[in-house]
Amino acid sequence: MSSVNILNQNKSSYIGRFAPSPTGPLHFGSLVSALASYLDAHHNGGKWLVRMEDLDPPREQAGAADAILRCLEAYGLEWDDSVVYQSQRYELYEDYLNRLHQQDLLYPCGCTRQDLQTMGGIYNGRCRSRTVNTSNPHAQRLKLYDLPTNFHFSDELGFTDLIQGEQTQNLRTQAGDQILKRKDGLYAYQLAVVVDDIEQGITHIIRGSDLLDVTARQIFLFQLLNALVPAFGHVTLASQPNGQKLSKQNLAPALEFKDASINLWQALKFLGQNPPQELCSAAPKELLNWGKTNWKLDAIKGLSAIYSRSP
Ligand code: GLU
Repeated sequence: MSSVNILNQNKSSYIGRFAPSPTGPLHFGSLVSALASYLDAHHNGGKWLVRMEDLDPPREQAGAADAILRCLEAYGLEWDDSVVYQSQRYELYEDYLNRLHQQDLLYPCGCTRQDLQTMGGIYNGRCRSRTVNTSNPHAQRLKLYDLPTNFHFSDELGFTDLIQGEQTQNLRTQAGDQILKRKDGLYAYQLAVVVDDIEQGITHIIRGSDLLDVTARQIFLFQLLNALVPAFGHVTLASQPNGQKLSKQNLAPALEFKDASINLWQALKFLGQNPPQELCSAAPKELLNWGKTNWKLDAIKGLSAIYSRSP
C-alpha cells in the first residue's frame, strides 16, 4: 500500500478553500462545510479562498453563483483574494490534460453509462486495449493502475484524514479509471478540482464527508502530477432528524440572510464547538470571532450527523 505524505505546512502558509458548485443556493449543510474550512483556516492564521465550481452548465441554476457569494457575505464569511471561476480556466485544464497525455496516462473511452452499469459501476479499463474511433464523441480516462513503467504506485492508497482518521482505498477495485474529460467536451470535476487546488497552492481541504470516497483518486492525481498533497479533513454531513441528508437534491431550504446569527450559532453547535448560549443572537462577526479563537478541529470527530434546530 502506498501511504501519502500529506503536507505538513507551518501555520503561516496555510491556504484553505470553499469550493461550491452553483447548482442551487447555500443550505445549512453547505454552511457547516464553509464554516469549518473558514474557521480552521483563520484559527491557523491562514488564508481562506472561495472557488466557484461552475464547470457543468447543465446542472447549474441561473443566479446561484451570485446568490452563494451574497449569502457568504451576509454571514460574514469573507474570502481572501478574488473568487476563481472554473468556467474561466478551460485552457489550464487542457494544459494539464496534455501533460498527462504526453506521459501516456490517458486513453480515449467510448463506453456509455449503460456499459459502466454492466461493469457494476467501477470502470474495468475496457477501452485501454480497444481501438476507439476518436472521430465519434469520446471521453478521456486516466489510468489508475498498470501504469507506464516509470511510475511506481500500488493499487492501494492510504491517507490520514484530519477528522475521519485512517483511510484506505483500492483504486483498481473501488475507483476504476476516472473520466477527466467528458464525452460532451466538458472537463470533469475530478480533474478541475485537483488542478485548481495545485494552482491555488491549497494546503488544507476541509469539506463535506460526501467527498471522502473520491479523495484517494484525487490524491493519486496530485501524485501523478508531482504536486504536494494537501491535508484533507471531511466533516460529517448534517442530516435531518428523519435521517435525510441536507442537500440540494433533497431540497434543503436555502439559508435566509436574516437568520445569519442563529444559523451560524447552530452550525458551531453542530460542529461540536459549544458556543455560549448568549451568543445565539450576536452579530455574525462576533460569532465568527468567537469561533476563530475557540476552534477545535478535534471536537468534530465522532459527531452525530443529526442536526436539530432547537438551540
Ligand atoms: N464543488 C463540490 C461540491 O459543491 C465540492 C468540491 C470540493 O470541495 O472538493 O460538492
